[in-house]
Order: sequence, then C-alpha cells, then structure tokens
Amino acid sequence: MRQMRYIRRMVTSDGGTWSARHAVEAAARRTAALVNVLTAREAPSAAAVVAVLREHGEPGELDLSERDTAEMRAAALRLREVFAAPGAAEAAARLNGLLALTAGSLRLTSHRGASPWHPHLDSHDDAPWGEWLLASSALALTVLVWDRQCPPGGLCASASCGNVFLTQGAGPPRRYCSRRCATRERVAAHRRAKAAEGRQPADEMDQVPIVRR
Ligand SMILES: [Zn+2]
Repeated sequence: MRQMRYIRRMVTSDGGTWSARHAVEAAARRTAALVNVLTAREAPSAAAVVAVLREHGEPGELDLSERDTAEMRAAALRLREVFAAPGAAEAAARLNGLLALTAGSLRLTSHRGASPWHPHLDSHDDAPWGEWLLASSALALTVLVWDRQCPPGGLCASASCGNVFLTQGAGPPRRYCSRRCATRERVAAHRRAKAAEGRQPADEMDQVPIVRR
C-alpha cells in the first residue's frame, strides 16, 4: 500500500521557493529515473525501486509488493514509448494514448495540507503504485510538451545503454543519457577510426576513412 507520494518540501534544493515549474521538472526527473530502473533487462528488486523513489523525495514508509513493482514496470514500459517518440507530434499522440488510460480525471490535492496544491490524474491519493506512476508521469510529460513544444526526452544513443533522458531546454539535441555514455561512445568511435586507418593499404593512406557512427 502506498503511503504518501508527493514532494513535501516547499523549498527547492537550490533555495528557491516552491513553483509549479520546479514541481513538474522534479516529477519528470523522477519519471525518467523510475523508467530506467524499472525497464532494465532484469526486473528490479523492490529495494532498488524504493531507493529511486527516496532519491526523488518520497517520504515515509515505502512498502512495495512484488505486484506493485510488476505494475510499475508495465507502466514504465508504456512511458518509455513516449521517450522513444521521434518528434513532438508522435510524443503527443503517445501521451494522449496514456492520458486516455489513466483511471482518474484531473483533480487538485494538497494531501490534506501536507503539500502545495498540485494536480493528480490517479483515481485517489492512495491509488496503487502502478496507477500513480502512469498518471503522474503522463501528467508531467504532458506539461513539458505543452511548455516546450518539443518531445519531453529521448533514448540514449549508446547501444549498450538505452536509458531514457529528459530534453534540456534550448541547445543542440542530446544523444546520450549521461556524460559517461557520451565519453564511452566517443572513445569507441576513436578506436574504430584508428583501427580502420591501420587497415588502409599504403596507396590509399591519403584517403580519409569514413567513420560510421
Ligand atoms: Zn546512456
């Protein structure tokens, strides 16, 4: 049974006061982290999922059953499809599909005064974890598309990773989920280029090898 699920702190980690934008971005970061732990090749332990929820501010006792984590995994696989969408139109279409699946209609709650007023899409404040994950994540990603008019995120281009990541405002589109993946892929591309150079026959050495990325 879920106990409390909301961001209780009214002051953000950067010292600013609570704002809807911060809350939506925090919910989106929590969504990405949960999708990554829940859709790993091997089904995660409840403890691993609880650790991610705690990192993202869930207070109180967190008691996830096997059924809860299975339902969360099913929701995470659907959410992953939104991150895999090639453009804003496709992301919006996939989100519309998820919004149609949510059990509740849009409502405001303050969890009996324990948090700022914020919208929920699950059927009630103690809805099952899987229902909560799908509804709260779809809502946060919907607001991001509304606000930025671009896909809410993407999939890491590293074949050995495949994690989801969030679009970071303006700037060139991101390809990798983390600096770690970007560095690993850059090193691998460099090694492939070196190896290709080594294989060039002497009379072709002046030709620049084409590196496939
Ligand atoms: Zn990655």
